[in-house]
Amino acid sequence: MPIISSTLTDILVTGAGPAGCTVAVGLRRLGYRVTLVHAPRPWPSCEGISARTLRGLESAGLPHAAMSVLPASARRVEWNGEANAANTEHLVLRQEFDAALLEDARAADVTLVPGRVRNIDYAHTDGPLVTVDTAGGKVQRLSCRFLVEARGRTAPGTGADQLRGPETVGLMQLRRGPPGNPGTLVSSFANGWAWLASTAQGLYFVQLSVCADSRELPGRAELNAWFDRQLCDIPSLQAWQRHSEPGADVIARGSTSILQGQLVTANSLRVGDAAMAVDPLSGNGIFQSLSCALVAPAVINTLLQKPADRALATGFYTDRVRHTFLRFARMGRDFYRMEARWQDNDFWRRRQGWPDQEAAHGDIAPTLLGIENRPVVSGKIIRPQSVAVTSDQPLGVWHVGGIELAPLLQDLPAAPDLRRLALSSRLAETCGSDATAKTMLEAWLRRYRLM
Ligand SMILES: Cc1cc2nc3c(=O)[nH]c(=O)nc-3n(C[C@H](O)[C@H](O)[C@H](O)COP(=O)(O)OP(=O)(O)OC[C@H]3O[C@@H](n4cnc5c(N)ncnc54)[C@H](O)[C@@H]3O)c2cc1C
Repeated sequence: MPIISSTLTDILVTGAGPAGCTVAVGLRRLGYRVTLVHAPRPWPSCEGISARTLRGLESAGLPHAAMSVLPASARRVEWNGEANAANTEHLVLRQEFDAALLEDARAADVTLVPGRVRNIDYAHTDGPLVTVDTAGGKVQRLSCRFLVEARGRTAPGTGADQLRGPETVGLMQLRRGPPGNPGTLVSSFANGWAWLASTAQGLYFVQLSVCADSRELPGRAELNAWFDRQLCDIPSLQAWQRHSEPGADVIARGSTSILQGQLVTANSLRVGDAAMAVDPLSGNGIFQSLSCALVAPAVINTLLQKPADRALATGFYTDRVRHTFLRFARMGRDFYRMEARWQDNDFWRRRQGWPDQEAAHGDIAPTLLGIENRPVVSGKIIRPQSVAVTSDQPLGVWHVGGIELAPLLQDLPAAPDLRRLALSSRLAETCGSDATAKTMLEAWLRRYRLM
């Protein structure tokens, strides 16, 4: 087999989803030479994102990806026998979206290597050595100073120290039907829940989330017929079954919540779903991948440029990913708990108790716990900083409205009247004529009942 010689790059990113592309673009901005190995998603799929995630794509330097997202359409939820149509979501056709992400990486001067990663040797003397199967049966070997693992859920796991939710699979089918009003529907049923999406062009996507270890799931050969029977049997899906025809085979995507164990080593870091993959019911996978990948360049830069701060940067990243994972796992659990009709059913019983019994949003009345030194992203690096630690933001809040909280909150009088007076005069002094910052700070202080 022809082997193309090793090429040395500063940073090699494996996987070009939202996490891999965001981190690659961020590292280029810090001046690193970045190589991105990418293999396309082999099947058509569709996902939904919020307006906030769309803004996140724009601010992450991914304008092509943001432009590929469809306009907001109505989102209907049928859960626990009740219907709600208050929200909207933006549909993302993943193959188009992923191609646009690559455009963004190319525009940022990231070196793109098409091919499928076969193996990574982390112990190689020149730094991680990646073996890639490229077109025409050729093998390419790439070595780097630092490797970013961004192959999503298909990245090899870190093993025993993972945190794993109930085993779940998302079964999805592309269907075709008459063009019409685009929109989505989330609907619960006895053995799981469904997400359905239709575009103005008549593409219909139907996704069922069910127990991956259910004995009722058939083998590959019977999957299309089984899927069609579910659409006929589940009342809320019947209209979709009648109005659309299968346009492709049913595909199965693992969607178990997984937090990987070791996220950072001396020469590698995991981002996006390769670090933590959440249950799609929280509907925020792309958002979480972005938020994890936006801080990763500063973490990597600290590991490479300030090795003395390695523990600080590693702790910052690991705590942040874990905190986000648990927060969304608990939000998902609370959404499962809102469905009371099938609590004895295995699917619902297992998800209504995982990951634990802790509240998702911290205290009902959030409180300020104190001012502490915590790691923060400061420009290109991670460094310690005085931040306000609260019951719902235990990792700390540094700024509100661009103003540092710690100096404002340090050594406040205990008596409420005196505290309010002190805060008013500090606000006037700190904010000056910046009315927006003052309004944001006052709202924050009221939320923590400090004013
Ligand atoms: C069933 C299901 C439904 C979902 N619905 C939603 C939703 O509605 N909204 C939402 O926000 N999120 C949703 N998600 C989550 C979302 O898909 C992920 O959180 C997000 O795409 C993660 O981004 P990523 O960059 O980490 O990984 P991915 O987007 O998975 O990107 C990984 C990339 O690596 C590539 N790759 C894999 N193996 C290799 C290899 N060996 N060599 C080279 N490249 C490789 C893949 O082709 C892919 O391009 C859903 C997930 C599932 C499973």
